Amino acid sequence: MRLLLVEDEHDIQAFLRHSLAEAGYQVDVAADGKTAEKLALEATYDILVVDLGLPDQDGISLILRLRQIGVSAPVLILSARRSVDDRVRGLEQGGDDYLTKPFALAELLARLRNLLKRNTPASAEATRLRVLDLELDLLRREARRSGQLLQLTPQEFVLLEYLVRNAGRVVTRSMILDKVWGMRIQPDTNVVDVHIYRLRGKVDGKSQQPLIRTLRGVGYVLKDR
Ligand code: CA
Repeated sequence: MRLLLVEDEHDIQAFLRHSLAEAGYQVDVAADGKTAEKLALEATYDILVVDLGLPDQDGISLILRLRQIGVSAPVLILSARRSVDDRVRGLEQGGDDYLTKPFALAELLARLRNLLKRNTPASAEATRLRVLDLELDLLRREARRSGQLLQLTPQEFVLLEYLVRNAGRVVTRSMILDKVWGMRIQPDTNVVDVHIYRLRGKVDGKSQQPLIRTLRGVGYVLKDR
C-alpha cells in the first residue's frame, strides 16, 4: 500500500514515517502542500494522511486541489484543531476521516485500515482502471493522465482500455485487431499503427514518462511501472 504523508512538524513526520513503514506502508513524505501536489501527480497513492496546518496552505485547500487533479484515494485528516466545526468542514471538503492530535498510533493504523477497506468495493474496481498516473473511468468513458482529461475518440478509448487491461504485457497487432476492431485476420493495413500513433500523442504527448512502448516487429506494451 502506497501512502502519502503530508506533515510539516518534523517530530511527528519522522515518527509517522517510521511507524507507517513498519506497519507495511510504502511511505512518501511531503512537508508542504506544493510538494504533496507534485508527488500526487507523479505517483498513485492508495491513501493519504494530511495535516491541516501546513506552511504554504491550508490542508483543506490541498485536499480540494488533489480532488481536482483526480486523486480519488481516501484522505485521513490529521489536525490539532479539535472543534466540531473544523471536523465537519474537513469531512465536507473531501476528507474521509479525521483524527485529532495528539493521537494513538494504534488508532491511526485502525482508521487507515478501515478507509482502505471502505474504498475498495468490488463495484468501484469494475468501473475504474488505473495504471500509474493514467486513469480510465469506464462508465463515463473518460481517460485522465495526471488528472488531465484526454480528448479521445470512442475508438481510441477502447484501444487504450485494452492496453490498460493488459498493462505490462505485450499485445501484438493481431491481438489488437481482434479485440478492438473485431478482425480475425490481419489485413494489409496499418490501422493499428495509425491509431497507436494518435493515441500516443494524446497520452504521452506532454509527458516526461511515456507509457506506450513499441516493440519493433512484435507489438506494444503499456508500461505499468
Ligand atoms: Ca502542521
